[in-house]
Amino acid sequence: MAKNGGKGRVCRYETTLHTRILERLQLQAALDRAITNGEFRLVYQPIVALGPGQLRGFEALVRWHHPSRGMVPPLDFIGIAEESGLIVQLGEWVLRTAVATAVTWGGAAYVSVNVSPRQFRAPGFVDLVQRALAEHGLPADRLVLEITESLVLAGRDQERIEAELEALRGAGVRIAIDDFGTGYSSLSYLHRVPVDLIKLDKSFVDTITTSVSQYELVKGIIGLAHALRLAVVAEGIETAADRELLVAAQCEYGQGYLFARPMSAEDALTWVSAVPART
Ligand code: C2E
Ligand code: MG
Ligand code: MG
Ligand code: MG
Repeated sequence: MAKNGGKGRVCRYETTLHTRILERLQLQAALDRAITNGEFRLVYQPIVALGPGQLRGFEALVRWHHPSRGMVPPLDFIGIAEESGLIVQLGEWVLRTAVATAVTWGGAAYVSVNVSPRQFRAPGFVDLVQRALAEHGLPADRLVLEITESLVLAGRDQERIEAELEALRGAGVRIAIDDFGTGYSSLSYLHRVPVDLIKLDKSFVDTITTSVSQYELVKGIIGLAHALRLAVVAEGIETAADRELLVAAQCEYGQGYLFARPMSAEDALTWVSAVPART
């Protein structure tokens, strides 16, 4: 009995594993075709000044409309695109589309674009950014690039990466560290790496209304950022209470369902004209 049960488990395990690998391969093949088939869209989520609630910018977020699966969330395919290298091509499409859309906002808001580590490391990334801005006529200060802690921390190409960040900032592009606080316990890289903003991860924001010590930690992170002349964008603000505590902690900017969910480019354009931007 026990032996059979054991065999059954092994068999089921292998079947599941096999199915998962197959699904991953199918997804990867579908992903390869998706760019040429035009299956990706960008949605835009407002980033506001927390006190007065003025619009400052939008984060561009990619959506995949698979012909039979429907909407596939980015967390289900960005990792696969990274591993296969397709993220370089997808990321280029995202950057160009986001820059072209930001031009329609008439200088009233910036666009914030997620850049994966592999995309940043690909040859010619800095050139690509400068060409995209020039071709569409978007001033560099209307573009923010969101990078990850892992890009600026690890490894042998660190000096080259820092020099490229410096080149981008020299051209007027701002750099944000996305999901700040999730990856690493060391904050010491912050004074070394040339960045402008940190995006405080939603997992911190989620805890501030229920835990005094978490709120103190968040206040500490914001204070540290300010000491280093970095501005802070809080991610995933869902309640008015979250916003009030973040305002009290001197956090400048915020993003979350409290203000708006990610929306189509057309709706973003309506937001630009409806919500007063900075003068
Ligand atoms: P992220 O860059 O940290 O983006 C913020 C995510 O939080 C988005 O999820 C957004 O829809 C969600 N969000 C915003 N406000 C709230 C809120 O109040 N509550 C909750 N529960 N969620 C909120 P999304 O669009 O599913 O994207 C997930 C992740 O996928 C992004 O996290 C980013 O890491 C990655 N991603 C999305 N688009 C791109 C892209 O174009 N390129 C790359 N490389 N990565 C992307
Ligand atoms: Mg982001
Ligand atoms: Mg983020
Ligand atoms: Mg996040």
